[in-house]
Amino acid sequence: MSRVAAYLKSLLLLELVRGMGLTFKYMLKPKYTVMYPMEKIPQSPRFRGIHALRRYPNGEERCIACKLCEAVCPALAITIDSHRREDGTRRTTRYDIDLFKCIFCGFCEESCPVDSIVETHIHEYHMEKRGENILTKPILLAIGDRLEAEIAERRAADAPYR
Ligand code: SF4
Ligand code: SF4
Repeated sequence: MSRVAAYLKSLLLLELVRGMGLTFKYMLKPKYTVMYPMEKIPQSPRFRGIHALRRYPNGEERCIACKLCEAVCPALAITIDSHRREDGTRRTTRYDIDLFKCIFCGFCEESCPVDSIVETHIHEYHMEKRGENILTKPILLAIGDRLEAEIAERRAADAPYR
């Protein structure tokens, strides 16, 4: 009996009719499709995009090479080398993030005691050459310099919830 019912169903194209019914039902309703990249949905201040290293207003880099971010990173995406400067402070000589390993969990940002490593809102980027997946210290600092105003604004918006 079930085989007869299945045969009749396919003969009368019942599933097609049901599908078309659904199409007509939503035809005149408001559309939820976003025409990306012309249209974009709002982003949370906590959005985790590409990374940046920040500086203090006097230009001094914030990172003190404590390596907490490197230790906490579950994907082992961060590599840091450091040295002690003549004034006794410690700074990184190498700070690499491998974007192929990073899972954008945000742990590095959460662990940083001086708000140095952050994740920006930028998620539209691409690589063309081998090795461009490694964000080096100069690249990270340059991203931070370019987006500092925006980073500070987003962190201020998120501050009451931290
Ligand atoms: S976002 Fe997560 S995975 Fe990516 S570098 Fe930071 S801690 Fe590692
Ligand atoms: S970015 Fe922050 S957590 Fe990572 S080494 Fe520098 S100061 Fe430490």
